[in-house]
Amino acid sequence: MTVKTSRAAQATIDLCACRHNLAIAKKASPASRCFAIIKANAYGHGMEKIAHALTEADAFGVATVNEALQLRESGINKAILLLEGFTSLDELSLAREFNLECVIHHESQLQLLEQDKGEALKLVVKIDSGMHRLGFAAAEVSPVIQRITKMNHKLKLMTHLANADDKHDDKTIRQLETFYQSIENYTDLEISIANSAGILGWPQTHAEWNRPGILLYGVSPFLHDTAETHQLKPVMTLSSQLISVKKLKQGDTIGYGGTYTCDKDMTVGVVAIGYGDGYPRHAKTGTPVLVNNKVCTLLGRVSMDMICVDLSEQPDAKVNDTVVLWGNGLAVEQIAESAETIAYELLCGVTNRVEFIYRD
Ligand SMILES: *Cc1c(COP(=O)(O)O)cnc(C)c1O
Repeated sequence: MTVKTSRAAQATIDLCACRHNLAIAKKASPASRCFAIIKANAYGHGMEKIAHALTEADAFGVATVNEALQLRESGINKAILLLEGFTSLDELSLAREFNLECVIHHESQLQLLEQDKGEALKLVVKIDSGMHRLGFAAAEVSPVIQRITKMNHKLKLMTHLANADDKHDDKTIRQLETFYQSIENYTDLEISIANSAGILGWPQTHAEWNRPGILLYGVSPFLHDTAETHQLKPVMTLSSQLISVKKLKQGDTIGYGGTYTCDKDMTVGVVAIGYGDGYPRHAKTGTPVLVNNKVCTLLGRVSMDMICVDLSEQPDAKVNDTVVLWGNGLAVEQIAESAETIAYELLCGVTNRVEFIYRD
C-alpha cells in the first residue's frame, strides 16, 4: 500500500498569469525586445517551468553560469544573457560552448578575454551611470570598447537603474544623461536600460532591449502603487491549511515570547506555515491572512512551522480550511510591507518544503 502524504503548504504557480505579465511589458514598450529575467530560480517560481512557459520572450537573463547551463540542459535554445558575465577562463569557455551572451563590467573580465583569444563572443558592456554597483565608469567606456572591438567580439551596451521604483526621483534622468553621453560615439550599437520599473514608468528608458524581472511575477515595481494599477496578475499563490482551531480567554498570550495578549475571549486558528517555509518571521501582528477568502490577521510571532491567526470574525472556520498567505486576493507587496522587506525577497525565499503546483 502506498500512502500519499503531503504537507498542506503549497505554492501554486499560474503560468498563464506569467505570460500575461510579459505581454503587459511588451505592450508598454512595443518596439523593444525582452531579456526575461529569470535569475534566482525565476524569483523563486521555478526557472525551467517559467522559461518554457514564456514562449514570447525574445531571450532570457540569469545571474550565474549554472543557471544558464540548467536552462540549456532543459532544452532552452534562445539567447541567454549572463548578467554578471564570467569570472574565469573556464566560465568563458562554457559561455562560448553554450552560446551565452556575457555582460562585461570589470577590467578583470577584459583581461580574461585578452588571454582567451578564442572565437567571437556576444558581449554586453555594462556602464555604471550612477548606481555604483557593477559597470565601467563613463570615462572608461571608449578605451574599453576599443579593446573589445580589436578582438572582434559582438557588442551591445547596457546600464542599470538604481531608483526607477520611485517615479518622482530624478536620479533616473541623471543616469540616462550620463549613460547617453558616455556612448555618444557608438550610436550603431544596440542598448539595454530598463528593468521592470523603467518599462512601466519611464518610457525614455525603453531601448532595443528591456530587462523585465519582477513584473513578470505579477508584482508592481513601484514603491506606492499596486499590481492592479498595471494590470499585472500574481503568479505565485502561497497557501496552507488550518491545523487547529481553539478558544482562548482574555489575558491569554500567544506563541513564543507571548508577544500577543488576547484583549478579549477569542477564537484562534493555527496555520501550517512558518519561516521554515519562507513565510517571513518579521511579519507583525496584524499582517493580513486569508482564511476561506476572508481577511483575518496574524497574532504573535511567526514560528518555524506555524502561525496563529485571529478567527474572531469567522468562528465557523475549522481544521483543514484553506488559508492564503499571499497571491490571489492578497498582494505579496502588502505582506512584504508588514515584514519590512520587499516582495522580491519573499518570492525568492519560499523553501523546498513547500509543494509547487503548476497551472497552465
Ligand atoms: C535583476 C535584474 C533586472 C530585473 O529587475 P526587476 O526590478 O526585477 O525588473 C534587470 N537588470 C539587471 C541587471 C538585473 O540584475
